[in-house]
Amino acid sequence: MTTFDVIDPATAEKVRTVALASLEETDAAIDRARAAFPAWRAVAPGDRARLLRRFADAVDGALEELAALEVLNAGHTIGNARWEAGNVRDVLHYYSAAPERLFGRQIPVPGGLDVTFQEPLGVVGVIVPWNFPMPIAGWGFAPALAAGNAVVLKPAELTPLTALRLAELALDAGLPEGVFQVLPGAGPVVGRRFVTHPAVRKVVFTGSTRVGKEVMAGCAEQVKRVTLELGGKSANIVFADADLERAAATAPDGAFDNAGQDCCARSRILVQASVYDRFMALLEPAVRGVVVGPPGDEATAMGPLISAAHLAKVSSYVPADAPVAFRGSAPPGPGFWFPPTVLAPVSPTDPAAVDEIFGPVVVVLPFTDEDDAVRLANAGEYGLSGSIWTRDVGRALRVSRAVEAGNLSVNSHSSVRYWTPFGGFKQSGLGRELGPDAPDSFTETKNVFIAH
Ligand code: NAD
Repeated sequence: MTTFDVIDPATAEKVRTVALASLEETDAAIDRARAAFPAWRAVAPGDRARLLRRFADAVDGALEELAALEVLNAGHTIGNARWEAGNVRDVLHYYSAAPERLFGRQIPVPGGLDVTFQEPLGVVGVIVPWNFPMPIAGWGFAPALAAGNAVVLKPAELTPLTALRLAELALDAGLPEGVFQVLPGAGPVVGRRFVTHPAVRKVVFTGSTRVGKEVMAGCAEQVKRVTLELGGKSANIVFADADLERAAATAPDGAFDNAGQDCCARSRILVQASVYDRFMALLEPAVRGVVVGPPGDEATAMGPLISAAHLAKVSSYVPADAPVAFRGSAPPGPGFWFPPTVLAPVSPTDPAAVDEIFGPVVVVLPFTDEDDAVRLANAGEYGLSGSIWTRDVGRALRVSRAVEAGNLSVNSHSSVRYWTPFGGFKQSGLGRELGPDAPDSFTETKNVFIAH
């Protein structure tokens, strides 16, 4: 049996050993899901809704336990981890309203009646990354279950603990066996099998753009439905007319939340040249003030990186001669610590300004005018999120329309609300999650004509 040692990123100590599913076990789980599907789709809408509400309540009852597990397994701050468990609960509650609202349409036709049905797909495979193990799992499984599908879910190798607990809570809440299964395992084994197994009718993948392309290519073999949520290198655009104090005070949140391991991290700050010096003077104390420390402490704002390998990758973007404008602090270790770091001046073509570093490293680039800001923001292949700081409503709207990204916020850094759609432009993704339409993306539209 292959196993994986789960490590606490804050201490580098082993937390637990988890058995990894083999190919045979994956096939067996997919078979169980396939067998469970007909009865699950036949559950009356109101009853399916009730079961999802019970699942949500079970998550709520275990909120502190789930949050503590995520602090231990992923090094998330306790405040973030509570929000993440609460997000699973809320997403379940939100989509528990969907079974009774999976409307079709009645379309006028001559000679009969034409109606559409939203039919569930069957088995859906959800592949989750390590950076937000709970929310990203919930964004996939909640609407998929609500639409009447059976779900097999693979957490990231590094962070399986909360997903395993969620599967137990689903059973406790009364979801039938086989309807929601969690399979810890290697990406190229379990994840890949979701792609190649013909009974899996859709893959929801969140992770790197590199693996996402592989998943998409694999799904093409069977014309399998696929949703991709991939990487980002989002811009935080600060115009000269903005509330500079607020823009600077919140920029660390936008870039360093979850230690920068956030696909929506605003890791490029674009500042209008006329206020560049003033902005940097305001940014410095904000960055130095980020409290980096044990993730279980209530006062901590930023915890460690996920692993030693990831720490090495992030560190490679800040070599000894890197243009560090200023940086915060971090504990010396053990654990995978990296201080919040601001790089400037940097060329827009520098790897630090182009690559998704996925750590607490932000670059600051000056721009001249609105066109220049949009040009810089749209450089590169990513297009996930971004922020625009200005007091000019017209400019806010013009720039919002011009930036090629799926999730923008004006005068804030918020990007993911479960009741609004979320996803990427360009190579940041394909399809949308969350929002009112997510259950539809776990169905096929069927048209039926009935002659008079
Ligand atoms: P990753 O691509 O390495 O892994 C993601 C998941 O895919 C893991 O569960 C992994 O085991 C699995 N996997 C690996 N190889 C596979 C294969 N050949 N076939 C099928 N599955 C396979 O990504 P990661 O390092 O875990 O996560 C970080 C990345 O995720 C970043 O690029 C980040 O931007 C992205 N991300 C995107 C979003 C979004 O919503 N757009 C959200 C969070 C993270």
